[in-house]
Amino acid sequence: MRKDGTIVKGLSKKVAQAEASQTLALTALAKKLKAEGVDVVSLTAGEPDFPTPRHIKDAAVRAIEEDFTKYTVNTGIPELRSAIAAKLKRDNGVAVDPSQIVVSNGAKHSIFNALQAIVNRGDEVIIPAPYWVSYPEMVKLVDGVPVILKTTEKSDFKISPAQLKKAVTKRTKALILCSPSNPTGSVYTPEELKGLAAVVKASGIFVIADEIYEKVLYDGMTHFSLASIPDIAPQVITVNGVSKAYAMTGWRIGFLAAAKEIAEAADKVQSQVTSAPNSIAQKAATAAFAGSDDEVMKMTAEFKRRRDFLYAAMTSIPGITSSKPAGAFYLFPNVSAFFGKSHNGLKVRNCDDVAQFLIKEAQVVTVPGSGFGAKNNIRLSYACSMAELEKAVTRMRDAFAKLK
Ligand code: PMP
Ligand code: GLU
Repeated sequence: MRKDGTIVKGLSKKVAQAEASQTLALTALAKKLKAEGVDVVSLTAGEPDFPTPRHIKDAAVRAIEEDFTKYTVNTGIPELRSAIAAKLKRDNGVAVDPSQIVVSNGAKHSIFNALQAIVNRGDEVIIPAPYWVSYPEMVKLVDGVPVILKTTEKSDFKISPAQLKKAVTKRTKALILCSPSNPTGSVYTPEELKGLAAVVKASGIFVIADEIYEKVLYDGMTHFSLASIPDIAPQVITVNGVSKAYAMTGWRIGFLAAAKEIAEAADKVQSQVTSAPNSIAQKAATAAFAGSDDEVMKMTAEFKRRRDFLYAAMTSIPGITSSKPAGAFYLFPNVSAFFGKSHNGLKVRNCDDVAQFLIKEAQVVTVPGSGFGAKNNIRLSYACSMAELEKAVTRMRDAFAKLK
């Protein structure tokens, strides 16, 4: 209320200026169209279509039967944090004590907690583009300034140490790095990461290393964790979760692992905002991290089959080019050859128009690159069945052929 008694109406400027998540919006649109009876194919959300593996579901059922249904300690149950610490050592060569781990409601939440923990008003956070839609918006929501570093298809959408060095200023607080990448599927090699690590060390900035797709790798690529480099380990906030590797998107469990004071700050934020994540899902996630990765390997083999199909099929459509994803489950083709073309009096001007055109003409829902900071591309998720992919490709091929 103002001094004169009038009420100040309206949204906060911060929220009014932020974008809603395009990935979630288009996923919701695809669901709505399906519910209305439209025969749509959704290539929207990065959501594995496989069921959560049996042994993980069993752990959740057991948790319910044993009445493990109360609030847990804010940072996550000790057995889950121990399983995560063991996983980080085993898979990633990262040495952390369980007290350096905070479990949250998905990796998305962990990234936000990390930003809340380190960003002051006006601090810059470097984000290579194409980026996952939520990074810049989250930075803005904590009063930081996203600094976008452009990459090209030529450099496989990766930044170089020189590029990073040039972008660092006195105000730089952190870099957000996602490898394997959503939306491009590109994967940094250990050598490339060591090159970036030297700049991180010299400049003293933090890195939020989003490793959510670490298990989804093709063609003999291996995952390398920045936090395994002892020189910069205290500057790295590693984020990961169960959504992608274990087909557990709906269970909402992610974590961050970081220097003690950062973990404590994230703990503090979480303690006031959400408390610990779901107790049953925490038991399930413990089984995921402590159990065998046989199912993960089977799912990745299937993703590779789909990647091979989709990459070959899409790049055989006249006008479409694409980098070949080495990880994650997205193809990010360049569709700019269609800009300026029309069909039925409707002109396609940009990637948003291409996405709209595909919904209208092909009943295929994709995510335009604009939300990812890439104006020439659209994102196709191949975390859906081969039959759906085949249907989508046939329809998109026919639709693109109509653009003259
Ligand atoms: N990071 C990236 C790059 C993602 O694609 C996702 C997908 N949702 C997340 C983080 C968050 O995953 P979740 O919150 O489901 O753990
Ligand atoms: N990360 C997935 C995607 O990019 C799920 C949606 C979201 O959380 O943004 O499609």
